Amino acid sequence: CGIVAYIGHREACPIIIKGLRRLEYRGYDSAGVALLNGQLTVYKKKGKVADLEAFIGEQDTHAHIGMGHTRWATHGEPNDVNAHPHYSTSERIAIIHNGIIENYAALKQHLQQQGHVFHSDTDTEVFVNLIEEIQKQNSCTLEEAVRLALHEVVGAYAIVVLSKDNPGQLIAARKGSPLVIGVGEGEFFLASDATPIIEYTNEVVYVNDYELAIIRDGKLEIRSREDVVQTPYIQTLELEL
Ligand code: GLU
Repeated sequence: CGIVAYIGHREACPIIIKGLRRLEYRGYDSAGVALLNGQLTVYKKKGKVADLEAFIGEQDTHAHIGMGHTRWATHGEPNDVNAHPHYSTSERIAIIHNGIIENYAALKQHLQQQGHVFHSDTDTEVFVNLIEEIQKQNSCTLEEAVRLALHEVVGAYAIVVLSKDNPGQLIAARKGSPLVIGVGEGEFFLASDATPIIEYTNEVVYVNDYELAIIRDGKLEIRSREDVVQTPYIQTLELEL
């Protein structure tokens, strides 16, 4: 039920964990993070953000790109496997997702026939495998695969996608579920609402339905689902900390 992501010069993991704590008021049953640093590493756990932190323990979390999620289960019981982030079958792509993919069952059947293997009972794991399959079929970029996947899924989502093959890049999209981007100096903060962002920057972009946000090389690009470049509308928040 909450999303946080970071890309920039700082250590991603502490920012994400702190951000997840700020989103705790939204309610959740599990939490997880994915960190991109040559490797794409996922830590996830049923329970509180504190349980996730204990689970991560003294592991080396060094990374400048990462994403975190608090889950409110809709498809599949609350447990460690169903917690987000979810990997694609190759484990080269990971996703976090708030919302519901209504046509996940049909998509899942189709993807299983194409050799994708599912570990969880979530609708979300279908989404990330769909992206992987589209990228394979079309030999296209990750952002193009995400964009095409948005045309196939029915339902509501705010997603963030990371890929081992795109080490400096973070892709997000939304329809129905909220997504805000904090714009810093060569760094970006993504979250379900502005509460995890305001301590770092008050310049924010609210992503609209059917839009993708692509962040790479210190730049933010917003594109429509039809692949038309949009001019991001940067608002200055007047929130008190
Ligand atoms: N539908 C997804 C799941 O059950 C996401 C739930 C959420 O918004 O946290 O895993």
